[in-house]
Amino acid sequence: MTLTLAQVPSRVGASAARPALAEQPIRLPDLPLLVADVPQALRVALSQEGVPCQDYVPGSRAGRFVLYDSTRLRPRLGEGQRSFDVDELRRIVGGNVWQELADERAGRFAWQIGPLAVEEVVARADRAALRWQLMSKLRAMVEAAGGLWMSIAAFPHPYQTAFNFRIDHDEYDAGDFAATLAIAERHADCVSHYVCASTHVRHSQVLQRLRGMHVGSHGFWHHTYRDASANLTNVSRGIDALAAAGIVPQGFAAPLGRFNRGLLAALESLCVSHSSEFGLAFDDLPFFPAGSSVLQIPIHPVCLGLCLDAAGSRFPAEKAGAVAAETALRHFLRMARDKHQAREPVFFYGHPAARLGRFPHLLRELFDFVGTLDGVWRVTLAEFAKWWTARAKISVQAFRRNGQIEVVAERCPVHYSPAVDYWRGDRAATLPLMNGRAVFACDAPLGEPRRPLRDAYPRRVARRWGWRDRLCRYLDWEYATPLEEIATHHWRGRTKRLLREVKA
Ligand SMILES: [Zn+2]
Repeated sequence: MTLTLAQVPSRVGASAARPALAEQPIRLPDLPLLVADVPQALRVALSQEGVPCQDYVPGSRAGRFVLYDSTRLRPRLGEGQRSFDVDELRRIVGGNVWQELADERAGRFAWQIGPLAVEEVVARADRAALRWQLMSKLRAMVEAAGGLWMSIAAFPHPYQTAFNFRIDHDEYDAGDFAATLAIAERHADCVSHYVCASTHVRHSQVLQRLRGMHVGSHGFWHHTYRDASANLTNVSRGIDALAAAGIVPQGFAAPLGRFNRGLLAALESLCVSHSSEFGLAFDDLPFFPAGSSVLQIPIHPVCLGLCLDAAGSRFPAEKAGAVAAETALRHFLRMARDKHQAREPVFFYGHPAARLGRFPHLLRELFDFVGTLDGVWRVTLAEFAKWWTARAKISVQAFRRNGQIEVVAERCPVHYSPAVDYWRGDRAATLPLMNGRAVFACDAPLGEPRRPLRDAYPRRVARRWGWRDRLCRYLDWEYATPLEEIATHHWRGRTKRLLREVKA
């Protein structure tokens, strides 16, 4: 539920009956939470969620509640302060949630979507589901201790979700490109193009057509390497090639959705603002991977291409395309509706060549459907990265006084209207921050219970890697890089090159 300021019971200091501040017992702010030495994965989750937090410094009176880890250092509390042991939280959630959240490896998974069993290599950890469990338990602990739970809303006021379609331009096909662009350019405010430079820079009309829209880099060669220096060369060359053709790319999406720390190091050294790899995270809020300044923007990992692959092995060729397109469209519409309801970002992706360009009605119907939903922020991923980076800098302080909650925010962005979600249990009200402030009743009316969408998603099933897949990944096998450009300073490169020579 969203309240406007007109519905807020009264302004701070407006009540003459209220005692002066000096007459009230001194109270510490309910928020921010003070965060001592806790696992980095928890810090990332709190930041994603937008929970106001501040580093704990001994003696600090900046908040009532201190999060600490009893397996590390115990904080020395001052009068009126209370602590929560996050190791207890870990035990309540079960398993080793910190390790699971910090797992950056990908695995092979399958989903049953309509008549099709589609497969993709995506993050092993379902971060969004783990974060939901963690935050629900922590919220219950804080509320049971008489505390207050609030988060900076994931979208600027008055939006309840954001929508983007990411187009990965891997191969170039003139007809498919034109058919895709005919629809995409009518929705340039919510489409982001990530362009593989090796296949596109020689087609000057392509870049001419993309000019003025959000364009990011999809590498030079269509491969994400295991080796950090090979990634640096490839990403840097991809950016330079687009820039030389007159388009300065904003952000990056790794070929094949793969992620590794070598890639991240390359993106950091090139000051890339954001990146998007379902091999690290999918269907989740954006986040900064531990120790990194490159924002990760997760998307939904199922695309038309996966449906076409699955249909090709199950249906005769003359039927496969239509079945795949219909299945993908139904899936996108359902996901868009459910994500909108669950207040999750609606971020999809697809490819023009031999896919979207052959079934452009899919894009048209998806855009039409999203146009019927309320409160949708149509946004490019570059714009969303700017918002999310600004949101991460907002600092919030919240007090309860005389049945009211007073929120004061600092470092609010000028170009966006942030809001706070005020929670009681699993219900929340969204309240805009006006000039960095909001005041509302503690018993402000709340909306419907907020639920994670995971229960409604098609269930994903882990698949085992075959020996061939394992070997290919181990050798970083691919055909995208020309033979003479395969780096041979490492045994893996030398082996790959030798095998490619033999196969040639
Ligand atoms: Zn690609």
